Amino acid sequence: MTVPNPRAESDSDVASLYIDGAWRPSASGRRLAVHDPASGALIGWAGAGGAEDATAAVAAAATAFPGWAARTAYERSAYLYEAYRLMLERSEDLAKLMTTEQGKPLRAARAEVRYAADFLIWFAEEAKRMYGQTIPSARADQRFLVMHQPIGVVGAITPWNYPISMITRKLAPALAAGCTVVLKPAEQTPLCAIEVFRILDEVGLPPGVANLITCEDPVPVGEVLLTDPAVGKLTFTGSTEVGKLLARGAADQMKRVSLELGGHAPFIVFEDADPAHAAKGASLVKFLNTGQACICPNRLFVHRSIKDRFVETLRDRVAAMRAGSGFTEGVSVGPLIDEAAYERMTRQVGDAVAKGALLVAGGRRLTGADVDGGYFYAPTVLTEVTPEMDIYREETFGPIAPIIVFDDEDEVIAMANDTRYGLASYVYTRDLSRALRVSEALRFGMIGINDINPTSAAAPFGGVKESGLGREGAHEGLLEYLETKLVGISI
Ligand code: ADP
Repeated sequence: MTVPNPRAESDSDVASLYIDGAWRPSASGRRLAVHDPASGALIGWAGAGGAEDATAAVAAAATAFPGWAARTAYERSAYLYEAYRLMLERSEDLAKLMTTEQGKPLRAARAEVRYAADFLIWFAEEAKRMYGQTIPSARADQRFLVMHQPIGVVGAITPWNYPISMITRKLAPALAAGCTVVLKPAEQTPLCAIEVFRILDEVGLPPGVANLITCEDPVPVGEVLLTDPAVGKLTFTGSTEVGKLLARGAADQMKRVSLELGGHAPFIVFEDADPAHAAKGASLVKFLNTGQACICPNRLFVHRSIKDRFVETLRDRVAAMRAGSGFTEGVSVGPLIDEAAYERMTRQVGDAVAKGALLVAGGRRLTGADVDGGYFYAPTVLTEVTPEMDIYREETFGPIAPIIVFDDEDEVIAMANDTRYGLASYVYTRDLSRALRVSEALRFGMIGINDINPTSAAAPFGGVKESGLGREGAHEGLLEYLETKLVGISI
C-alpha cells in the first residue's frame, strides 16, 4: 500500500506546518519521525514545531480574525461544505493513512472519516443558525437584545486515538462561528492532521484562518496557546491530567476552555435484559479502537442472576476476535499506541489478579509474526472485580473488560457513580421506567440505553465531573465558540 502522503516519502521535505496559508518547515528545522504502531516501521516525517512557530501561527490567526468574523455565515458555511465534499472524495485514502499511522482496522478508519466529515456538514448547516434573542424588559422604554459573537483565536489540541474526527469536531464549529484556529495535533498522528489541512488549503480558506503546528514536544506550543493574549479560547481533547494543567494555565488570562477528558464508563446490565444481546454490545464498545476511546466501558456491572450467561457470551466473542494489521481482512483488534499503554495493561491486570480477580480470557501480550512489531494485547475479560482493584478506579484505555456483579438497582447506581469521571455510561434493561429512573440518577454526560453508540455530530458529546467542561457537536458545540453579548436599548 502506498501511503498517499508525499511529505512522508522524502526526508528533507517536512514542510508540514501550515501558517498564514503557507506550508512551512519548523523554525528550528527539526523534524519528528512518525511510526506505524502495528509494525514499528517508519512511515514519514513531520516538522517539529516549537514556540516560535506557534507564536507566528497565533499572530496569523489574530490578523485573520476580523475579516473571517465579518464574513456572512453563508460564506463561512460554503467553505465547510466544500471541505466536506473533498473529505468524502478522499475518504479511502484518508482511511488508509489513518490505519497506517494509528493502527485501527481499515473498516473502523473508514467509519471515522465519515464521522469526521459529518462535523463539517453539520456545522456548515449550524453556521446559519447562530440565532440571538430579544427579551422583554420590565421597563416600557427599554428593549433587550442578545447576540452571539465569535470568541476570537482558538487554540485546539487533539489526541491520537481519533486523529481526524477530533480535529473536525473542533475546527468545524470554530470556523462556523467565525473564530480562527491554531491546531496542535498529537505527536503520534501528525500525518492525518496534515491531510485535513491539505483539504482546508484546497478549499481556499483565507490565509491565517486555520493554522497547523505539528510538533514533537507539546509543552512549548501549549505554553504559547496558554500565555499569548491573542488566544481567546482553548479547546482540548485528551487526558484528565493534561486537561487540568491546561485549565489551570488558562485561568491566568481567564481564557475560555472546552475540555473533553477521560472517562470511566459503567456498563450496567439489569436482570431483565437479554444477557447475550448485552454481551454482544459490551464486546463491541469495550473493544472499540482496542479499548482506546474515552467512551469505552471501564466497569461492566452485571446482575448476579444473569452473570454466567453474560460472561460466557463475552468470552466466546472475545475468543473470535483477531488481532493484527488493520489492513488484514477480519482483524478487529489493533495495536496499543505505545509501550506505556502496554505497561498499564500489564499492571492493571496483575493488580486485579493479585487481589482476587479471575482471568477468563486474555491477560497477555500477543506474539507471532503478524503482531511482534507492535504492542498487541489480547482482549481480556476479568471477573470477580472489586473496588479495591486499580482497574475499578483508573481509566484503562485498553482492551480489558472487568466484570462486577450486583444485586439491586440502588446499589449499582451508587457503584456506577462512585468515580471522579462522568463521560459515557450504558444501561441494558427492557423496563422503560427503570431506564428513565437510572438515566436520571447516573452522573454522566452521555447515557446509552440498550445502545452502544450514543454519539453523532448532531448530538452533544461531553462529560461532567473530571471528564471535562463543555460539549462538542450539536448546537451546543457551536455555542462553545461564541460569546453572549447583551444590548440594552432605551427607546
Ligand atoms: P494521551 O494519553 O491520550 O496521549 P494526552 O493528554 O497526553 O493524552 O495528549 C492529548 C493531547 O495533549 C496531545 O495532542 C498531546 O500532545 C497534548 N499534550 C500533552 N501534554 C501537553 C502539555 N503539557 N501542553 C499542551 N499539550 C499537551
